Order: sequence, then C-alpha cells, then structure tokens
Amino acid sequence: MTRFIFITGGVVSSLGKGLGSAALGALLQARGYKVRLCKLDPYLNVDPGTMSPFQHGEVYVTDDGAETDLDLGHYERFTGNPASQSDNVTTGRIYTNVLQRERKGDYLGATVQVIPHITDEIKEFMREKDGSADFVLCEIGGTVGDIESLPFLESIRQFGNELGRDRALFIHVTLLPYIPAAGELKTKPTQHSVKELMAVGIRPRILLCRADRDIEEDELKKIALFCNIDEEKVIPALDAASIYEVPLKYHEVGLDTQVLDAFGIEDAPAPELEEWERINRRLKAPESEVTIAVVGKYTNLADSYKSLNEALTHGGIANKVKVNIKFVEASTFDEAQEDIASELADVNGILVPGAFGNRGAEGMIKAIQYAREKNIPYFGICFGLQMAVLEAARNLTDIKDASSSEFDEEGEHLIGLMTEWVKEEGEKTHHERRSADTDLGGTMRLGAYPAILEKGSKVAKVYDTTHIEERHRHRYEVNINYQEKLEKAGLFMSGKSPDGKLPEICERRDHPWFIGVQYHPELKSKPFDPHPLFVSFIKAAVEQERLV
Ligand code: GLN
Repeated sequence: MTRFIFITGGVVSSLGKGLGSAALGALLQARGYKVRLCKLDPYLNVDPGTMSPFQHGEVYVTDDGAETDLDLGHYERFTGNPASQSDNVTTGRIYTNVLQRERKGDYLGATVQVIPHITDEIKEFMREKDGSADFVLCEIGGTVGDIESLPFLESIRQFGNELGRDRALFIHVTLLPYIPAAGELKTKPTQHSVKELMAVGIRPRILLCRADRDIEEDELKKIALFCNIDEEKVIPALDAASIYEVPLKYHEVGLDTQVLDAFGIEDAPAPELEEWERINRRLKAPESEVTIAVVGKYTNLADSYKSLNEALTHGGIANKVKVNIKFVEASTFDEAQEDIASELADVNGILVPGAFGNRGAEGMIKAIQYAREKNIPYFGICFGLQMAVLEAARNLTDIKDASSSEFDEEGEHLIGLMTEWVKEEGEKTHHERRSADTDLGGTMRLGAYPAILEKGSKVAKVYDTTHIEERHRHRYEVNINYQEKLEKAGLFMSGKSPDGKLPEICERRDHPWFIGVQYHPELKSKPFDPHPLFVSFIKAAVEQERLV
C-alpha cells in the first residue's frame, strides 16, 4: 500500500521545504521503506529550463533528460534514487497537457475548467505514483496563500479525501520569526498560515516549525492549541550546521516517528542512520581545508550552483577536508587589464562551471590560462571544458581567434552548434536533429549519454572504468576535427561519444590535474557516494596545498 505525504509551506518562501522533504524521505528509507519524492511547481513555465539561474537557482537535469527544479537534486542526493521526468510538474506543463487535449476534442464538448480538468490532471500526476513506493512524498512549491498554488491545494485536498486518513498526511512547514524588540519567537504567522490552509479544506496533522533558536515548550503548546494539532506533532525544526545534519536533527525531534504515528504504523523498524552519522562526523572534524575558486557568472546566488557546491563538499568528505568555495565573478575580468592572478593566488584548485552566453567567457579563459601555467588543479565543467579548448587553441596553437559559435560570427569556431546527435534508449537509436531556429526550451542535448574513455588516460584511472554515463545540458560541442591540433598543444580528447564523433572529455598530461568534461558530473554526486571526479579533484587540491 502506498501512503502519500503532502508537504506545503507557509509564511515565507525558502523555508527549506525541499530539504525537509528530502530529509524525511531519507529517514523513512533508513527504516527500510521504499520512498519516492516528487515536486509540484505552481509557476507557468513548462519547465525551469528557460529560467535564469539568478531567478530560480540551478536547473537540475535527470537521466531521462528532464530539466527540473533543484529540489529534485536534494531528493536524489538524500535518497540515492535517480530522479526522473515524472517527478516534477509545473502549472505550465499541466495547462499544456490540458490545452492539447482540448484542441484534440478529447473533452467531448465540455467547458474546460480549472476544476475539474486542471485539478484532475494534477491528481493524475500524483495518482500514477501509486504503487511505486511505500511512501510518496509530494512537495507543493510556493507558499500557501499564493494565487498560483490554489489548484494544487485543491487537488491534494481532493486526492487526500479519496485516499483517506490512513493513506494521506498533510505536513505544513512554517516559520516562527524572532522579533528582537520583543525578545521572542512569534507564533501568529504560523496560526494565520494554518488558517489559510484550513480555509481551502486542508487540515495539516504535522507542523514543522522552522526557527533560528530554541522554541519554548509553551509556544509549541500554544501552536498546537490554536492550530488544532496534537502537541507532539508540532515539531521544532531549527537551523542545522549543514544540510546533511538535517535528517539526524529531524529524527531527534521525532519527525519520522510522528509521521508513522499519524499513519497508525506501530511496527516500523528503527532507522539505520550510521551512514548519515559517518558523513556528519567527517563534516564536523575535517583534517584540513582547501579553497577552490569557482570562476563563474551566476556567483551572486549560491543556489545557481547548488549541485556543484554539494559535489565539492562530497569530494571534501571523501578526502576528510573542508572545502571552502571562493566565487570569482568571471565577467569582472573580461575586459579589465587588472590581473585575475591576484584573485586566484591563494586557491588550491580552480573550477569553471557551466554557463551560457559570452559574458564572463574571457575572464574564464584568463583563469584557465593561470591554472595551466601555474600547475593549479583545473576542473572544467561543460562551458568550462569549452573555454579550456579556446584557451589552448588561442595560447598554444596558431588559431589566435579561436571562438564559439555561441558568441558571434567572428573568429574560427572550435565550438559549434550541435545540430545532430545520437541517443540510444534501450534497443532504439534516435537521431536527434536541431537547427538554430528551434525553440529554446527543452532543445538541448539533455540527460544521460554514454561515453567511452581512452584506456590508460587520467580520467579512465579516476573513474576506474572506460565506460561511463553522465548527464548533459548543452547546445554547443567541441569540434572533433580539431583533435590533432589540440593534442599537439597538450590537450587530449580522452573521452568521446560511442560513435567517436563528440568529444566528451579533454585532459592535459603535462599538468598535475587538468580535466574538462562536456557533461555535468555534479548532478550525480551524493554525500555517501561522491563522484570520482570530485574526489580526485579535491585530492589534487589537497596535494597542491601541501606544495604551497
Ligand atoms: N553554453 C554552452 C552550451 O550550450 C555550455 C552549456 C553548459 O555549460 N551547461 O553548449
């Protein structure tokens, strides 16, 4: 029997609902249950693929090529279950489906309305998960009270009723703000938020109260009384030192126990939390520290590099070191004569992450040149590989005007628009074709693709295999015809697509650690299963630190 847990948020956004859901998923999993997590997003974009990372943080890409909300990254990192297209839906997607069906005449002349047509479509998204796990956790994006989330709330209300109390549970995450003048945490916003939920017919049975300090017993009791919730189900959720501490903290305050109790499950096995404890021990007592410069262009919002930050942390956990990230805004150095060297002088490793457009590209190329010449470990991800190719071409070959067709018409394009590539799914082989005029949304090379690594190469050693599968999200590609020239300049194409046409990895052999990859390895890294490239990169940075 599948039980559904619906998680809503109140008072303000950014309460850590996604993390809370992921942590609860991890706790139930640690008790031996099969869990599945999904997210319903109330915005009108069909998927977050076309949203700026400044607005919405990172776009998380799944194996099956969906561009999804970054919370799916948390779900995957916390449970180890690979997220998929069917784990995230937006209002835009729901409306698109309904409108397509309306155009086909599938509604047989009916007036198409929010209730029941939109709500039915939302319910269908949840219902199709029935039977796929012991617990399905559905996080509703946005804040209760927003106009946008109403159809979602109505749908979970209806669906909750259909399932009944034994199979449906509503958890509401709220905030108790601290008011310095009064010297206390305030419960009123929580009361109002629960009232708002009740007004749409949803009665939460568990409240997760976020606060930046201890919540007095009296306050918890007051909330229970006013919100009509069992006292032990008003749960304090205080800030944690690290996101990986959240499952342990939530277990301490009884979140998983109360969830099981709400469902009337009495014989649940105790959770096995050793892995989480081990990770936390390492995080709390690192043997040393390293600093990695992330030379990027969305550096104002840490969420734009969510998975990357986490993968670096995982590399640190594996090497028993603390990884400090120094964000360097690449565009500051595009034109400036001022030297990027002063920014990079004290770092142990340099990483250029994924990016779109030419702003910042020149700054990144300068950083890569610095890493190459000073023998500092360099890790290029997607755009970071493409810029490493341009750096080598411009500074070590006669192609002084090396460029990418993403930037402009000028120069020699070593990086070009990909118009054709091969995707294999099971037995089937698709030829994907695009042109410069195709829609922007969902038209990149997206999702998991295999690559073959050259025997004896650095990357083959790092991965300890020659066959890998990694997730992609890009529109441009390094032109394989430049292989010879680039290899003469010391940049070797040590990983390619199985047909040998698309370069996937470039590495330098005259350098302690210089690897660029066309895909996004950070998306698959997990705290208890760190990605080998990040483990190896951080190890190189640690060794570098010893040399300094
Ligand atoms: N803008 C580049 C491309 O589309 C790189 C994309 C990325 O770094 N994710 O190919």
